[in-house]
Amino acid sequence: METLLLVRYGELALKGNNRRFFEKKLIKSVQRSLSQIESAKVLDQHGRLFIASSEEDQQAVIKAVTRIFGIVSVSVAKCIKNDFEQMKTEGLAEIQHLMTTKGIKTFKVEARRSNKGFHMTSPEICKNIGAYILSQTNGALSVDVHHPDCTLQFEIRDKTYIFSDRIAGPGGLPLGSAGRGMLLLSGGIDSPVAGYQMAKRGVELEAVHFHSYPFTSERALEKVLDLGKTLTRYTQHLKIHSINLLEIQQSIAEHCPEEEMTILSRRFMMRIAEKISEKNRCQCLITGENIGQVASQTMEGLTATNASVSLPILRPLIAYDKLDIIDVAKKIETFETSILPFEDCCTVFLPDKVVTKPKVEKLEYSESKLAVEALIDRAVESEETFIIVWEKIAKDPREVNE
Ligand code: ATP
Ligand code: MG
Repeated sequence: METLLLVRYGELALKGNNRRFFEKKLIKSVQRSLSQIESAKVLDQHGRLFIASSEEDQQAVIKAVTRIFGIVSVSVAKCIKNDFEQMKTEGLAEIQHLMTTKGIKTFKVEARRSNKGFHMTSPEICKNIGAYILSQTNGALSVDVHHPDCTLQFEIRDKTYIFSDRIAGPGGLPLGSAGRGMLLLSGGIDSPVAGYQMAKRGVELEAVHFHSYPFTSERALEKVLDLGKTLTRYTQHLKIHSINLLEIQQSIAEHCPEEEMTILSRRFMMRIAEKISEKNRCQCLITGENIGQVASQTMEGLTATNASVSLPILRPLIAYDKLDIIDVAKKIETFETSILPFEDCCTVFLPDKVVTKPKVEKLEYSESKLAVEALIDRAVESEETFIIVWEKIAKDPREVNE
């Protein structure tokens, strides 16, 4: 008898003719994520994915697979021949195992017969196996069809798969099935969560980070790289473009009203992010902005930010409460890094007063005092690119410079 991991990917089934496209992306994602586990093999069988692996590797396979976007749940399944006697004995063995390990007292049996050549119907299978289990367990168990401690499931295909547990995956859509986006990744709590949410909907990520070195430290950059590493547990790889914003901030401080510092910096960030997106085939910008959270994130502030670029700026957290964002940050394990107290480029030039209802014309007037294009070009030239693959830095420009 073989044990396999049965993989479910619910929502993909709704995609009609595109289903195969989504499935291919998902299989690629699964294969990439299992590339480190030698014994793992992906089997694609008519709308069901199975993963075979050695017994020692099974926990590692489950951990890897339950982080893959598009996967709704997985189950460890015993695989046997389509033989009713064997179904009964293996079903009983599974239930007895759960009685000792989990102390189950109630159960129900479910069957799905995709192989119509099998000689019994699904209700017949359920009824007979249920009766057999009751007869072999001396009154220690009863059937509960509404809230059983355990649901014993039989899936009859070319072979029969028996399973009882369901381990949840993240859901969503497979990476790369919904285009590419440039995430503006600060060191804060929100932006890694924003990236995670978009990746969960199938958007492949790339990231840009702005610093004000030497006013911001090497440690602040390390923090952002650590956040990027955590994100690659889900996105597999991430390219981070690191850009020095200092000259731009100094120029704004010198020539523009102090209260416009934050919103003008934000407009420069967007323009630079857009420029890098063009070179890297990204179709949208992604931020962790959230309506009403801070003075610059008012309706007027968001409008003035949008007006600086033509790429769409997607803000998946726009209507989240901060506590809900923190919950996700904890779940995806970015929270502890995000709260480390390193300075951010925005805090270096934090003005005393912030304009909360900026007008685009007024901002454009302020920008007319700046050499916008030249500043952007020089900032883009300052770029250092880090490539992270599976939580490890694969390319570090600092090593090249040494
Ligand atoms: P976060 O927790 O993500 O830093 P925040 O609540 O601190 O967000 P802001 O600092 O106003 O909010 O930033 C809003 C968004 O702008 C961030 O979520 C991020 O997408 C982008 N952003 C801000 N600072 C930077 C930066 N230094 N580098 C890249 N993106 C940034
Ligand atoms: Mg911030």
